[in-house]
Amino acid sequence: MRRLLFAANWKMHLGPSQAREFMGAFLTSYQGLPDREVWFFPPAVSLAAVAQAIRGRSGLAAGAQNVHWEPKGAFTGETSVAMAKDAGATAALVGHSERRHVFGETDQETGCKVRALLDGGLAPVLCVGEKLEEREAGATLTVVERQLRVLEGLDPAALQRIVIAYEPVWAIGTGRNATPQDAAQVHRAIRAWLTAHGAPAPSVPVLYGGSVSVDNVGSLVAEPEIDGVLVGGASLDPARWTRLASVPAN
Ligand code: PGA
Repeated sequence: MRRLLFAANWKMHLGPSQAREFMGAFLTSYQGLPDREVWFFPPAVSLAAVAQAIRGRSGLAAGAQNVHWEPKGAFTGETSVAMAKDAGATAALVGHSERRHVFGETDQETGCKVRALLDGGLAPVLCVGEKLEEREAGATLTVVERQLRVLEGLDPAALQRIVIAYEPVWAIGTGRNATPQDAAQVHRAIRAWLTAHGAPAPSVPVLYGGSVSVDNVGSLVAEPEIDGVLVGGASLDPARWTRLASVPAN
């Protein structure tokens, strides 16, 4: 059976009390489907609340939005992999476009985070995607392949623990999503890159992100190349998120 992954990126929304409230409502309405997993990426301060709420429930997981690659030290404001794990994370986002373009994170830093996560036993969800001017210049695949290069040198067992999220920057929070066919074309290129670099390709989930909604999620996951979605805005309301994450897979 094809397995889908629905990931909620709450960004800087929902502190611990709101997260608890959200999870209470979600867990009451979400039935749980055997063909999919639902992962939550709350702000660091809400991670423990979400992890606690889903404890013992299969198919649900919590992850960090960001980690530092160093195990500890004088890094004010940062969270280590071990701390995220202690709070209940089993995964973490890496290289999200807001980390790259708002906070100036480089490919090199993204690569350090991927390795620290793998070493610490968390699944990296590596986000890649081109800016509008890069798409218009026909550079989408060049940019995405450059961003994937942080995975070079990882052995197949490590690659198998990674999730990729293709999120075109121009589609994030804009209401303008890539068409399922456009996204699928980039997903195919990502898969080809992974296979060429030793990944057992079908085992690496490739998600789409960028203005995913209740209305467009069905046509996205209907594409065999799209293994799930990473969702920002439409993941912040429990009723809407339940509907989105319950869409039939086709
Ligand atoms: P969006 O965000 O769904 O609000 O476009 C997606 C993301 O940034 O992961």
